Amino acid sequence: MSTPTLLDGLYIDGRWSAGSERLQVINPATEAPLAQVAAGGPEAVDQALHAATAGLARWSLSSAAERAAVLRKIASGVAERRQRLMHLQSSNNGKPLFEAAMDVDDVIATFEYYAGLAEGLDAAQNANVPLPSEAFSARLRREPCGIVGLIVPWNFPMVTTAWKLAPALAAGCSVVLKPSEVTPLPELELAAIIAQSGLPQGVFNLVCGTGLAVGAPLAADPRVAKISFTGSNAVGVQVMQRAAETVKGVSLELGGKSSLLVLADADLDRAVELACGGGFFNAGQMCSATSRVLVADELADEFLLRLKARAEAIRVAEPLDPEVEMGALVSKAQYQRVQAHIDRGLHIGAKLLCGGARPAGLAQGYFIQPTVFTEVPLDSALWCEEIFGPVLCVRRFSSEQEAIALANDSEFGLVASVVSADVEHAERVANALQAGLVWINAPQVIFPQTAWGGYKQSSIGRELGPWGLHAFQEIKHVIRAR
Ligand code: NAD
Repeated sequence: MSTPTLLDGLYIDGRWSAGSERLQVINPATEAPLAQVAAGGPEAVDQALHAATAGLARWSLSSAAERAAVLRKIASGVAERRQRLMHLQSSNNGKPLFEAAMDVDDVIATFEYYAGLAEGLDAAQNANVPLPSEAFSARLRREPCGIVGLIVPWNFPMVTTAWKLAPALAAGCSVVLKPSEVTPLPELELAAIIAQSGLPQGVFNLVCGTGLAVGAPLAADPRVAKISFTGSNAVGVQVMQRAAETVKGVSLELGGKSSLLVLADADLDRAVELACGGGFFNAGQMCSATSRVLVADELADEFLLRLKARAEAIRVAEPLDPEVEMGALVSKAQYQRVQAHIDRGLHIGAKLLCGGARPAGLAQGYFIQPTVFTEVPLDSALWCEEIFGPVLCVRRFSSEQEAIALANDSEFGLVASVVSADVEHAERVANALQAGLVWINAPQVIFPQTAWGGYKQSSIGRELGPWGLHAFQEIKHVIRAR
């Protein structure tokens, strides 16, 4: 086996350099090494924050037109390197190429969208605020909140980065980005694109490394005004605790345990397709996975027959296989975690409808069959916890109230899906669900214009849309006597 390439893992103050730590990057579909990344630790974080301080002084005063031009340049750079970015995401994350293409397109759309919002910033600045007194006038300014630390996970590496980075740059903030140590390659390529975008040096800095070596000091440093974090709840809590010491703002995008509700009048084939999409896209490694499927009693027998047939027909294969429908899980650790959840489910007596093991013919790689359980106890980990793998739990319901109560009975509240032929009925159910985004008869489409985030322990704050921009802005009112 040839020695993998050693890549510089630090981009600080407009220059690439190597850190003293080494990250081994694996292709999860083959288990072969892809690259080594020379990553950093607290010292690199300190250097990045030093650069970001100078970057902020320059970028916070930039015009709306300058910010928009840089964001558009990044979008076009990503579009030019679309194929390369797709392949990097597939090989580093294990996702099929068609899914990687969707991710790249989402990144382009996000940078374009925030370029548009940036263009409007100057005109919206200093808006007059109507007051009940003639004696005073007031104006509203939105100013960049400062240096921001962006910490992202491995399941949608470039997308989670773009949702933070594009609005942060549009707002006029300077940035230190920490990618996941499992999937740093897409972000390294994105940094190479940003290096060509005309962004002044020091505004964007990237420090690869582990959570403890890079994420923790970033979250604790008093120079950071805000941490925007996407990842697990356990780490989100640690980030919030560290940030609390210097009263930093935090935006958190955490886990989910979301439901797809198949109402009694649903089209069954559509319901089966949406259940598979919500459970098996990205091999189920989605915070928005609708891993609980709630089916009206009268449809349940036929739904389960069709779901089993469809799940068993899903082609699990190497991500670069042109016929692939589902790829590999991201890492050995994730594979073992998901398999342990499945084994525990079997142990407690949940009924396996299909899947549950490694697919035949795939001896290498972190592959698990699309898996469906029924009769899952309501107090079990399988029902309550985020599995983050291709595992669905299906349960029958006899009334709409029961279905809504089951869906809402979770510490999370990220998304939900409703399938019904009666749109008004579906809209009523959508209104009753505790979730930040509800899809009706639709796959999990996401637009930069609509907010991302959830209720309860799924999130603090919202990404995307104007809310995503406001997350990186301070509000200032200036009140003057006339
Ligand atoms: P993770 O929490 O293990 O890691 C996320 C990031 O935090 C990584 O970059 C990691 O290096 C860093 N980190 C780890 N320890 C840290 C510490 N002590 N201080 C600071 N940073 C630290 O999550 P993951 O395994 O990479 O991703 C999976 C999780 O992400 C799932 O729980 C999933 O639900 C969540 N997620 C949520 C959303 C959303 O939008 N709500 C989107 C994607 C993923």
